[in-house]
Amino acid sequence: MSDALRILFLSTTVGPLGSGQGGGVELTLKNLAAELRHRGHTVTIAAPAGSVLDGFDVAQISGTWQDTAQRQERSDPIVMPKGAVLAEMWEYARQQQPQVDVLVNMAYDWLPFYLTPFFEKPIAHFVSMGSLTDAMDVVIGEVAARFPGTIAMHTKAQADTFPFADQCRILSNGLDLSEYTFQPQPDSVLGWVGRIAPEKALEDAIAASQQVGLPLRIWGAKTDEAYWQSMGDRFPDAPFEYVGFLSTAELQRELGKCQGLLMTPRWVEAFGNVAIEALACGVPVISYRRGGPAEIVQDGVTGYLVEPDSVDGLVKAIARLPHINRQTCRQQVEALYSREAMGDRMEQWLWNVYQNHRCCT
Ligand code: UDP
Repeated sequence: MSDALRILFLSTTVGPLGSGQGGGVELTLKNLAAELRHRGHTVTIAAPAGSVLDGFDVAQISGTWQDTAQRQERSDPIVMPKGAVLAEMWEYARQQQPQVDVLVNMAYDWLPFYLTPFFEKPIAHFVSMGSLTDAMDVVIGEVAARFPGTIAMHTKAQADTFPFADQCRILSNGLDLSEYTFQPQPDSVLGWVGRIAPEKALEDAIAASQQVGLPLRIWGAKTDEAYWQSMGDRFPDAPFEYVGFLSTAELQRELGKCQGLLMTPRWVEAFGNVAIEALACGVPVISYRRGGPAEIVQDGVTGYLVEPDSVDGLVKAIARLPHINRQTCRQQVEALYSREAMGDRMEQWLWNVYQNHRCCT
């Protein structure tokens, strides 16, 4: 236990944990926190007020949420709302420093990077999205240069969107496999899971499901209501159904019944938790060959990678779904994306960040 660290996680500031607003960060944080605590580390989590995380007492931070970064233009400035929860959270972090060995920033926000040199304790930044704005690229790049080894990404594809890709550690994600049941026999349905927002291009999945005549079930937080409404206008006759935003336990039960999961990212998805969640249930993944999912799906083995933005490619891949062995999908997650495997990668990284800081400051 002498190797145990005192770790403070600072969550995303776009909404409370459990709301779905934070996308994959919410599940990743939950699994990381649970695994690190299981290994004997002391784990504290700070997150926007209203946050709920199974098994953890979350420090609830009040304030106004940050806007999501996904729809920003490259030259957009950094914006902080009045009474920002982000500022409150880092004030809390500053106060907690004497009780902490390492802080882990899970938010894709400018402030934690900017504040890094002003903190006495080391900050490990787990970056959750690819390059979106010049202002973020610059501030993350400065931290990468000044504090080597403190920037981690989920996939190489994500890191490659930044000019300092070679200075990033690649951690990928992992799941608690005991929470996902393997389902050998699917129903005649396709699935789509994620935040319902333009960068996820749900319209391509709906178009493909309409062409093949298979119902499409949709799960996720509607982070852009107008975009969701436009789906009904564009596809009045398509066989798609919105089921809701479900807990992991309910989601995996439903998802496991799908013949395949469609992933249609228009952007460079940093990782794509939903890909490994589907595979864990035995569900093959059909994705555009772009971003994180292209590093996860083994083409022709655990799903299919198709030309980005090609609905025709999706349609052809759906026809080949029966050739995928669902057991192999589960095995891929067991081998590469278990909670333990993620814990090994994360623990090693945090130790390095902690020791480098001790030796060099
Ligand atoms: N999710 C969920 N319930 C649902 C639909 C989605 O909990 O009904 C979660 C899912 O488990 C995943 C996240 O939403 O962790 C989506 O994350 P992903 O990494 O796929 O994409 P992001 O939203 O981060 O771009």
